[in-house]
Amino acid sequence: MLRDSFGRVATDLRVSLTDKCNLRCTYCMPPEGLDWLPNAQLLTADEIVRLVTIGVERLGIDEVRYTGGEPLLRRELVDIVGRTTTLTPKPQVSLTTNGIGLARLAEPLAAAGLDRVNVSLDTLDPGTFKRLAHRDRHADVIDGLAAADGAGLRPVKVNAVLMRGVNDHEAASLLRWSLDQGYELRFIEQMPLDAQHGWSRDNMVTADEILQLLSGSFDLTPDDREERGSAPAERFLVDGGPARVGVIGSVTRPFCGACDRVRLTADGQVRNCLFATEESDLKTPMRDGASDEELAERWLVAVSRKRAGHGIDDPSFLQPARPMSAIGG
Ligand code: SAM
Repeated sequence: MLRDSFGRVATDLRVSLTDKCNLRCTYCMPPEGLDWLPNAQLLTADEIVRLVTIGVERLGIDEVRYTGGEPLLRRELVDIVGRTTTLTPKPQVSLTTNGIGLARLAEPLAAAGLDRVNVSLDTLDPGTFKRLAHRDRHADVIDGLAAADGAGLRPVKVNAVLMRGVNDHEAASLLRWSLDQGYELRFIEQMPLDAQHGWSRDNMVTADEILQLLSGSFDLTPDDREERGSAPAERFLVDGGPARVGVIGSVTRPFCGACDRVRLTADGQVRNCLFATEESDLKTPMRDGASDEELAERWLVAVSRKRAGHGIDDPSFLQPARPMSAIGG
């Protein structure tokens, strides 16, 4: 098992399939984009499946989430998902996506065994979407969400990041709309992971503020029907339930003590945390001929070094060199 020195066990693997994205959300990257990883540095589909197989078959990974960058941009996505869902024991397999292209891919992904999706949507207004993401693709996201629901990739979860003065006035309408569609909305506090290093604590819309913004329109009560466990979202029943809303207070309400995640970047580096400053290379030894056993051993050592917490509140905190898009959110 991937146990760290604090006794936490990593069972949830987040795999970035590419660092490229077709949106330019301001909290993530600049409008001109970034210098993408050269293709030769990206893991091939076979390499990704080999590492995921080692994780599932030897190291106790029971949940695999494909992300990016934008995972729908990876041409072999359906094949990678199909090869993941046929592993034994079968992991839960999900996708975090901006939804652009999901209208076409939802059915093939469902047929490949994908369990469910998280789709990012920060606004109901196409104009705000264009300002926030620097691309006029709001309708594609809405269509992608509907296709995911139609293909049975449920529960369809919606991720929203609120930015002060940009879309924070939409908190309640985003929730109302998600409830009407049957989607489960989760608000994520903005984290210091943007490539431009423009994040500031003062400007961040906190979990407390999000709950305050919602409480004008909804009655929210903590959902203690199931243990929170390692789930990053604090969940609340909306107007008595059963509908729920989640708030992920990564910055102001950190949940590092219960973290069960480990990440694999698109260039084959193991990361223990979004905010890790160290990575462990699996790609180079794999390309140099390491056996599955040797790669598993390296992975175990990497996880054993996981830090107690993300340290954002520590005076010595440094934003990681890689932005969110290159880590895999
Ligand atoms: N492209 C996919 C998407 O849009 O969902 C997957 C990758 S994206 C990095 C994953 C999630 O991270 C999205 O929900 C996005 O809103 C969120 N995200 C990106 N930068 C963030 C930041 N600085 N703080 C909080 N969430 C962020």
